[in-house]
Amino acid sequence: MLSQALGRLHCEDMDSRRDAATTDSLGEAIRAILPSLERFLEFEGPDPARERSRWRPALDRPLPAAGIGRDATLAELADLVVANGLRIGHPGFSGWVTTGPSDVAAAADLAQAVAVAQRWWTTAGNFVDHLAMRWLIELLGFPATSVGTFTSGGSTANLVGIGAARQHAGERLGLRPSLDGIDGMVEPTVYASTETHHVVGRALGVLGMGRRNLRSIPVDRSGTIDLDLLQAALDEDLAAGRTQVAVVGCAGDVNAGRVDPLAELARIAHERGIWLHVDGAYGGFGLLDDRVRERYGDVATYDSFAIDPHKWMAAPVGTGAAIVRDEGILGRAFTIETGDYDRERLVDSTSGDGDLGSPFDELGVGTPDWGVDFSMPARGLAVWAILREIGAKGMRERVVRHDDCARKVAERAQASDELELLAEPVLSICCFRFRPVGWTDEERLDALNEKVLLRVRARGRVVTSSTRVDGRFAIRPCFINPRTTLADADALVDEVLAVGRELAAGA
Ligand SMILES: *Cc1c(COP(=O)(O)O)cnc(C)c1O
Repeated sequence: MLSQALGRLHCEDMDSRRDAATTDSLGEAIRAILPSLERFLEFEGPDPARERSRWRPALDRPLPAAGIGRDATLAELADLVVANGLRIGHPGFSGWVTTGPSDVAAAADLAQAVAVAQRWWTTAGNFVDHLAMRWLIELLGFPATSVGTFTSGGSTANLVGIGAARQHAGERLGLRPSLDGIDGMVEPTVYASTETHHVVGRALGVLGMGRRNLRSIPVDRSGTIDLDLLQAALDEDLAAGRTQVAVVGCAGDVNAGRVDPLAELARIAHERGIWLHVDGAYGGFGLLDDRVRERYGDVATYDSFAIDPHKWMAAPVGTGAAIVRDEGILGRAFTIETGDYDRERLVDSTSGDGDLGSPFDELGVGTPDWGVDFSMPARGLAVWAILREIGAKGMRERVVRHDDCARKVAERAQASDELELLAEPVLSICCFRFRPVGWTDEERLDALNEKVLLRVRARGRVVTSSTRVDGRFAIRPCFINPRTTLADADALVDEVLAVGRELAAGA
């Protein structure tokens, strides 16, 4: 009886029941938030996000029992979220290693969310996602036989590279790590300089090798990995019977943008049959600046490489990439047992131009066996759009301009008796500090510079971040922002001088 009644209810309601979410007015939804997006991108006036008391209580609400509907939600999105957004695209922003997307990149992100909501199947979006990776491989000068996969960021790209290294090291011992685990690999060790990003250590943790098996090698006077200490560590661990999984090189460390001697690292690693992974999440695009190209050695010798299009390329955040030399190892490292429902028709459709019965008959180009995602967005769509818009030339010009920004800051720091250059720039990072004439006490200088940084930020003309160089507090701009020009680098120095003088006078 009850089930009959329920069945009837179900049938009667069939025609009238609609989803609570609107799905027929995307244009209106976009138009509703567009003015606030455009206003946001003018970056005018003091940063409204500072006024937390205005947006936070308005947003901090309990789970809505019933929704407030489309228009009210879009109004909150525009007035509370967008208006108080994160100004990392501001031309004067040079903090950390992050920036906002360029216009076409943002438009591609929207297009991806709507029209290529899933990477798979044989559509134009799947195709350009694959094409973008081929272009990226070519742009950076990797052999055409390399394979790559877009990831959620540099963190995952490093995980993919080191996962391939783990597979390689296991197979050398006759093991199958991704299938059987890493029993038999004795203290699987990865070697990297102390300047290496922390996500490399986490990758060891995630891959079951243990963070403590990341052997941190000190840097030499140039701030890059000390090759003698590396060799000594490798010898020692070999004698101790440890499984040597990878040597990791930094192509642009996040503190000072230094590039390890990668040609040497390749030689040292490969002489011993060890995998070379290079973390170029930030500095990978430095390959495009001929003035520093040498430092990268021959990219064809890298076994795996991590690079973040969401940094210097200004793709939307959520766009990293791993490039690996040996497709077979990568596939064996990350292979999955596909389920029955998607077993068939995972085909490479790069070659075909012919029309299809349905785009759903083939899963399109690519394989989920090259990374840790299964469902995934076509992250390469933005990369494709960026390269279509500005080409290799535009990317090269951007990198050279930003490297020039760092050099400009360095020149001004050297020319001024109130500034001190703390690390010669290699790429687009420059570490310097304000140093009033006659001040020598390091603690006092650190405290002063920390205050300078915070006050410069509060003034809002430029925003940057800090690091330590040889223990000293350094102001550290990193220029990767497509809106940033040499004038912004000048403005940063002007701000530091103005604020530094003001604070030193009161100190
Ligand atoms: C940014 C960065 C990472 C981490 O990448 P995410 O994209 O933030 O996950 C790793 N290594 C280096 C050198 C980086 O610059």
